[in-house]
Amino acid sequence: MIDPLLNLHPDDEHNRLLVDNVHPSAWRNPVPDGRYNLVVIGAGTAGLVAAAGAAGMGARVALIERQLMGGDCLNVGCVPSKAMIRSAHAAHDVRTSRRFGVRVTGEVEVDFQAVMERMRRIRTGISPNDSAQRFSEHYGVDVYFGSARFSGPDSVDVNGTEIRFAKAVIATGARAAVPPIPGLEETGFLTNHNVFNLTEQPHRLAVVGCGPIGTELAQTFARLGTRVTTIETGDQFLQREDRDAAEIIKSSVERDGVVVRLSSTLHRVEASSEGKLLHLETPEGPQQLVVDEILAGVGRTPNVEGLDLEVAGVEYDHKGVRVNDFLQTTNKRIFASGDICLPFKFTHTADAASRAVIQNALFPGPKKRISRLVIPWCTYTDPEIAHVGLYPRQAERRGIAIETWEVSMDVVDRAIAEGDTVGFLKVHCRRGTDTILGATIVARHAGEMISEITTAMVSGMGLGKFSSVIHPYPTRAEAIRKAADIYNRTKLTPSLAGLLKRWFSWTR
Ligand SMILES: Cc1cc2nc3c(=O)[nH]c(=O)nc-3n(C[C@H](O)[C@H](O)[C@H](O)COP(=O)(O)OP(=O)(O)OC[C@H]3O[C@@H](n4cnc5c(N)ncnc54)[C@H](O)[C@@H]3O)c2cc1C
Repeated sequence: MIDPLLNLHPDDEHNRLLVDNVHPSAWRNPVPDGRYNLVVIGAGTAGLVAAAGAAGMGARVALIERQLMGGDCLNVGCVPSKAMIRSAHAAHDVRTSRRFGVRVTGEVEVDFQAVMERMRRIRTGISPNDSAQRFSEHYGVDVYFGSARFSGPDSVDVNGTEIRFAKAVIATGARAAVPPIPGLEETGFLTNHNVFNLTEQPHRLAVVGCGPIGTELAQTFARLGTRVTTIETGDQFLQREDRDAAEIIKSSVERDGVVVRLSSTLHRVEASSEGKLLHLETPEGPQQLVVDEILAGVGRTPNVEGLDLEVAGVEYDHKGVRVNDFLQTTNKRIFASGDICLPFKFTHTADAASRAVIQNALFPGPKKRISRLVIPWCTYTDPEIAHVGLYPRQAERRGIAIETWEVSMDVVDRAIAEGDTVGFLKVHCRRGTDTILGATIVARHAGEMISEITTAMVSGMGLGKFSSVIHPYPTRAEAIRKAADIYNRTKLTPSLAGLLKRWFSWTR
């Protein structure tokens, strides 16, 4: 029987094996034997990377987890969501196969229980990487299960055991924020913490908040056959993104049958005989909506409670633990990494930040600055939106003049051949140069394409150089080379063009 504290349902073979890996019931915490070089609180991505990295270099490391090793990413985040997204794509591809000349006869049926079972199987299959056994036996980390709280500036308490440290990392992550909407708690709602436990498909779902998590799950549920309504107070999907990109996503989810309510507010929820009754304020006036489930995706709240941060002299606020550019907290021995302190709440930023923490906390010499990281990200809708670096509005605010080189996916042969011509690549360069400051890609597999631009930014390679990078034909990444060709053509000044004309007339 799975402990309900661990928040995993249903009680099946996959979940039992998962828990055996990431919170084994028979686990005995070690007895501390003197001071550790590094104590890591939280065994999500940030904690695991810090612990494995430090132990791999010979440090004595303690890793403390109160729930499931692997944290959000493995258990209730990236992995289960991407597994479900794959099933949603499959359903969509079958439904729309006629446009490829493939006729599917009969009704296309989604077996929601099979979708969720597949998700649980995949999650469990990945879990040995994050398991207590692996960290203990392979990396030599002392793994403790229990809630950690600081008992002093250089010690933590876990279940009454005092653990002392030279350095510590707070990697306790964040959880779904609960919007203060009257009636919501009483009627019940879903967040990323329980949505992956569903065994019955909701027929009608309201998704409150159109950030990356809400948008990905809205499209996923719609493609699996749920009637989805999204409610967003802002006037676009994915507030942070390029407006053109957000518009494409809006059209895409609308084509999937999602009812989109932008500039709308959910005021109150009440139980009714038909389901959960939502009272909305929309640009068209007050409206009501009845659904079976409500999914809240309105942001993240840092997990600072219960840590007794005051005892350790670690300052924090509503955004999380305060850190400097070296990820050091107001207690010089204590660092932080991942969702607990970073504005960019992604698995790969947690990973990168923890690598910096290992260097900064454990070694003398040059320190790594978090502000120097070039951070790409991707929202896994269809099409995907991937971004790296500056947006034009950020460049403007900083007084940096830019030029944008744009390629529409409808001139990219691979996208044409596959019928995915909606989307674009925009590369923002410092005006008058080919120095890349940022890029947005909207395309199928944009998340794979953005790494090429990130590599260029990290290595200082200019956009023009992409003209001489041979890309396999046909691939969507050719869009990047095309942007470079457009840039290079602007280098053909009138005087150079005149010179070339004379050369060719002379050599014919
Ligand atoms: C639905 C969803 C989809 C996502 N998809 C993606 C994606 O596709 N790509 C991507 O890059 N990111 C994605 N993310 C974000 C990603 O999951 C997080 O950025 C990442 O998990 C952060 O890792 P972390 O280690 O900082 O925190 P967490 O993973 O939250 O880990 C923190 C750990 O600390 C433990 N803990 C907390 N307090 C204590 C305590 N007092 N004592 C002991 N342990 C404690 C918690 O139990 C938890 O296990 C997604 C998130 C969600 C919710």
